[in-house]
Amino acid sequence: MKIIVCVKQVPDTSGAVAVNPDGTLNRASMQSIINPDDKTAMEAALKLKDETGCRVTAVTMGPPPAAEMLRELMAMGADDGVLVSSREFGGSDTFATAQILAAAVKHLGVEKDDIVLCGRQAIDGDTAQVGPQVAEKLNLPQVTYVSEIHKSDSTVTCRRMLEDGYMTVRVQTPCLLTCIKELNEPRYLSARGIFEAYGKPMSVYDYETLKDDPLIDPTTIGLKGSPTNIFKSFTPPRRSAGVMLEGADRKSCEKLAGILASRHFI
Ligand SMILES: Cc1cc2nc3c(=O)[nH]c(=O)nc-3n(C[C@H](O)[C@H](O)[C@H](O)COP(=O)(O)OP(=O)(O)OC[C@H]3O[C@@H](n4cnc5c(N)ncnc54)[C@H](O)[C@@H]3O)c2cc1C
Repeated sequence: MKIIVCVKQVPDTSGAVAVNPDGTLNRASMQSIINPDDKTAMEAALKLKDETGCRVTAVTMGPPPAAEMLRELMAMGADDGVLVSSREFGGSDTFATAQILAAAVKHLGVEKDDIVLCGRQAIDGDTAQVGPQVAEKLNLPQVTYVSEIHKSDSTVTCRRMLEDGYMTVRVQTPCLLTCIKELNEPRYLSARGIFEAYGKPMSVYDYETLKDDPLIDPTTIGLKGSPTNIFKSFTPPRRSAGVMLEGADRKSCEKLAGILASRHFI
């Protein structure tokens, strides 16, 4: 049994967010972190590793500096890391990203007892589309918004968090789960873990490695193969301060009705 965890390196938006004049994020001036939901997914994988002794592989698609994040994940406890990186993959939208990640997961091999874990959502792109798309491309059953995982034999029982309650789902492995922060509290790095991380294997999958997979079609990957294109991004203008009306007397109510009528709300 192995667990493959898809992890994205994202800019840290908890502090000051630097924005370029054209409205795009100034990533170079911001620190990069492990996407929070993906850290949760890694912790879930490591808990299963603690229980079963399975192998845990962290996979990321990104530019070469994303390798540092893979070392951090190995320091947490992942057994190895895969950096999916190539000029041909740059500028991919969620559809193309999922194609490439699915090809990388296939290259690692998905067997009967295996689980693919993703975060629910990345804090920069924020679409929550990549996990479900990877599952579709790999033809795997998927469970999203997972807040509890119990593995037994060839099934996984998951608790899904919904807006108005929970849903319990049992799914056959191999499967893909997308994890939410309620699932666990990710562990801290230990000095020993950091030391051991530098002895663990890291592979780089580039275009050459994956090009024989039918998913790696130049017309469906990278900027040119992406069906969605960001043609403009901007910061919305600040809202002007609201009008405060005090009192609940007739005069105030007439004033409120006058304002609403002047704006055609009533
Ligand atoms: C140079 C550049 C150009 C871009 N151009 C476009 C564009 O033209 N159109 C467009 O729509 N988008 C574009 N993007 C954004 C890109 O599509 C998204 O970053 C990517 O598809 C992931 O989508 P998301 O952030 O919404 O992830 P989500 O779907 O929110 O992520 C869900 C989960 O999927 C996994 N995951 C997501 N991304 C990765 C990854 N890279 N590696 C490993 N796991 C991952 C993680 O487990 C994550 O928690 C561009 C990005 C860059 C850097």
